[in-house]
Amino acid sequence: MAKDPWMVPVATLRRTPGASRRELRVGRIGRLEVADTVVGEDSEARADVVLCSLDSGIEVSGTVAATWQGHCRRCLVEVEGPVETEVRELYRQRRRRETPDEDEETYPLDSEMLDLRPLVRDALLLELPLAPLCREDCAGLCVDCGANLNEGPCACGHPNWPEG
Ligand SMILES: [Zn+2]
Ligand SMILES: [Zn+2]
Repeated sequence: MAKDPWMVPVATLRRTPGASRRELRVGRIGRLEVADTVVGEDSEARADVVLCSLDSGIEVSGTVAATWQGHCRRCLVEVEGPVETEVRELYRQRRRRETPDEDEETYPLDSEMLDLRPLVRDALLLELPLAPLCREDCAGLCVDCGANLNEGPCACGHPNWPEG
């Protein structure tokens, strides 16, 4: 089985508060879906981050990116585009008495490995476009005949302009 690209060894880093290390990781992140927009099972995501060892845990900051696919909300053609977003999150070892509720702003950390996957998935999910357009001035479909008005006026003579 291939090595999981999202698992980062952090034992050395954790022993050296103040130290930091850059990690560039690329791999499948699993299917992400918001409304009709998806990052497919087979598409690759990328994380370019710096891990910084703090007394309280490890801060991960940098950018994550992927490619999404969807359909234009006006003319329904397939569209795809890039999603890229900045992240800055803390991974922290949970104390035994803590409940997940008190700790929901951070990601879990154990002494050996840090799992970037939940951070990358969360960040991408927040940035996926809910209602993408094939282009800003997409004219959409004729409400009567269904013609794609980007290809010109249809036979019913509807004006060739976006419905909004
Ligand atoms: Zn369109
Ligand atoms: Zn028409």
